[in-house]
Amino acid sequence: DNTKIGFIGLGIMGTPMVRNLVSAGYAVTAFDLDPARVDQAVENGGSAASSIADAVRGADVVITMVPASPQVEQVVLHEGGVLEHIRSGGLLIDMSSITPQTSVDVAKAAAAKGVDVLDAPVSGGEAGAVEGVLSIMVGGERETFEAALPVLEALGKTIVLCGPHGSGQTVKAANQLIVAVNIEAVAEAVVFLEKSGVDLPAALDVLAGGLAGSTVLNRKKESILAGDFRPGFKIDLHHKDMGIVTDAARNVGATVPAGALLAQLVAALRQQGDGGLDHSALVRGVRRLSGE
Ligand code: NAD
Repeated sequence: DNTKIGFIGLGIMGTPMVRNLVSAGYAVTAFDLDPARVDQAVENGGSAASSIADAVRGADVVITMVPASPQVEQVVLHEGGVLEHIRSGGLLIDMSSITPQTSVDVAKAAAAKGVDVLDAPVSGGEAGAVEGVLSIMVGGERETFEAALPVLEALGKTIVLCGPHGSGQTVKAANQLIVAVNIEAVAEAVVFLEKSGVDLPAALDVLAGGLAGSTVLNRKKESILAGDFRPGFKIDLHHKDMGIVTDAARNVGATVPAGALLAQLVAALRQQGDGGLDHSALVRGVRRLSGE
């Protein structure tokens, strides 16, 4: 496959994703605002781009993996952005987690330029990105989805077209609601068990084997036990996602009380200076609420 890929946004997720695309045989030209991140991509077999234009020129497919809607708008829609430089007939896959409305706006602007777009946010965390087993929730046209599948298969395992533009983001927002509530439940159980004086590792092992078991519990229990809150997935990003899901739910008249509570708990962690920590740091919030 001689498909050329331009990749923009080389953070915790983008860096291993580039590595997997290179391993699958794609020529990847990578850009990030942080030049150290571009150097890392070159070490992983990509080529360096010094600007968005540089990453996009000559690419058949452009992938963006930046933090939030404002960065997607900046990178894709603004002057000097992807839509200014991508070739007509090219494909843009935005894999950032952003508001469904921004994905719809991007798709409209791209259509006017003859560019196909998918919103394709992911779940599975840094580990899923490293192992190339992400869940990828896609919004857009079926024909575009099918054309993009070989590229997406280099990055993920469960790859599903969820509906028209923006649908991938709506499903990702639901994903973030489930993950946040699940982490909070684990965090509350951990603090309860700690204060009860129960053997915590043993308790978490048996919990993981029953109905309380979950991917969240399996993935997060070691780091919670070790008190290691390096990200992973930053509280700042989960705060953004709880804003997306509570807004989107209000727009369609869905009531998400646990989501609203988690939005508040995540916001509190940020205010307490934990925005750069992994979302498993919700346990720190529960400890504080418990007088620890
Ligand atoms: P990150 O903060 O580690 O990386 C974001 C990267 O984007 C940074 O390197 C930053 O320099 C770059 N960037 C920002 N603005 C840019 C611009 N204008 N031009 C070029 N580069 C720019 O974030 P991450 O954890 O990799 O997450 C990226 C996206 O993936 C977010 O939307 C996040 O919600 C989502 N996501 C993250 C995870 C996870 O576990 N980390 C899991 C699923 C989804």
